Amino acid sequence: MTARSSTLLPQEIIRKKRDGGALSADAIAGFVEGITDGSITEGQVSALAMAVYFQGMNPDEIVALTLAMRDSGTVLTWPELDGPVLDKHSTGGVGDNISLMLAPTVAACGGFVPMISGRGLGHTGGTLDKLDAIKNYTTQPDEALFRRVTKEVGCAIIGQTSDLAPADKRFYGIRDITATVESIPLITASILSKKLAAGLTGLVLDVKSGNGAFMDTHEKSRDLARSLVRVATDAGVKTSALLTDMNQPLASSAGNAVEVKHALDFLTGRSVEPRVWDVTVGLCAEMLMLGGLAPDLDQAKARVETALKSGAAAEVFARMVVGLGGPADILEQPEKHMAAAPIVVPVHAEEDGFVTAAQTRDLGIAVLALGGGRVRAQDPIDHAVGLTDLASIGDRVDGERPLAMIHARDENAAAQAAVAVKAAFAIGGVADIADQPTILDRVKA
Ligand code: URA
Repeated sequence: MTARSSTLLPQEIIRKKRDGGALSADAIAGFVEGITDGSITEGQVSALAMAVYFQGMNPDEIVALTLAMRDSGTVLTWPELDGPVLDKHSTGGVGDNISLMLAPTVAACGGFVPMISGRGLGHTGGTLDKLDAIKNYTTQPDEALFRRVTKEVGCAIIGQTSDLAPADKRFYGIRDITATVESIPLITASILSKKLAAGLTGLVLDVKSGNGAFMDTHEKSRDLARSLVRVATDAGVKTSALLTDMNQPLASSAGNAVEVKHALDFLTGRSVEPRVWDVTVGLCAEMLMLGGLAPDLDQAKARVETALKSGAAAEVFARMVVGLGGPADILEQPEKHMAAAPIVVPVHAEEDGFVTAAQTRDLGIAVLALGGGRVRAQDPIDHAVGLTDLASIGDRVDGERPLAMIHARDENAAAQAAVAVKAAFAIGGVADIADQPTILDRVKA
């Protein structure tokens, strides 16, 4: 048994936080050690989570919690890479497939992106589930392969390993079942402990705001973005954040294989949607600046645009897929390597008109109900199902133009999804909806 970092009893730490006190770095490190080795009980962990939920934490406490959770497992370093190690984290949304385009684009611009991504939970999708839709692509390579692909290709998107921030894994699991997820200090430490364990030089955060986001108002999203940027910067990683709109799905596809297909269409220039372009270019440009690969925003954007338009980013994506065991012709023949749903049907609005609003969360739930998402972490998912051709706010929908195409396993699931999709869109008579900006704000250190 190792000696504890803190001699304080867990109940004393909980009491202090319950009464509004600030915890020392030592006390936090001791508590996190106990979370990791299991010596602190689930009841004690949930009590501390609830105390933090109500009392908050000051920036020093959040940094201490983040670092203690980061150090609860392996912390990667990248001595073999001769460029900046960069990553992005999104707080999650519907139709948010940006990682699939962003990692190869930044790699094509000279950065290294060893991206350790998560599975989807609830109404939001996860990058890992999307890549699992590609036959033979391994999202759980051993460390040697992860390192080799990152070095040789410039990026590797893989799944979380159990030795990365294990304290967060247990802590998050307990928060999830004790209504203590929605706490800015706890979210900040949870997200950053995993990202900082990846040994980054620079990190950009995509904090979603709107009715499909974890944080539904601009104020809450901005507070989370500020907390993330401040703590990551204090922990020694160059960090900035963009607040982006999630009052409608970002891409016109939501699901797993369908979002990979959408990303491939984007990378190859077959179909480039303006909102997806804005967010991809905006986040990539932040990463180039954080990594010292561009001196200012204009030059960073120009480099990113060249990497996308020249096909260089698409080529990096294809090489990453091959490096991780996937097929060599994913760009040319995506359908050959990803499962397709047997039922593909349009869903039309009850009346003709213009889309005035979307209940984004409900669209995510519709994908989940089709089988494309999971309620519990251990649930299996159906990679083939989802929604495509989703109408955007301001689009006209009528007998020709559907609200979406439903990709379902059977007729019954398709019919249920049709009801949910219709209910998720508001239709009005006029197209006088002002253009909604996709990037709402930028938070710098
Ligand atoms: N995502 C995380 O990784 N942690 C949280 O606490 C919330 C969202």
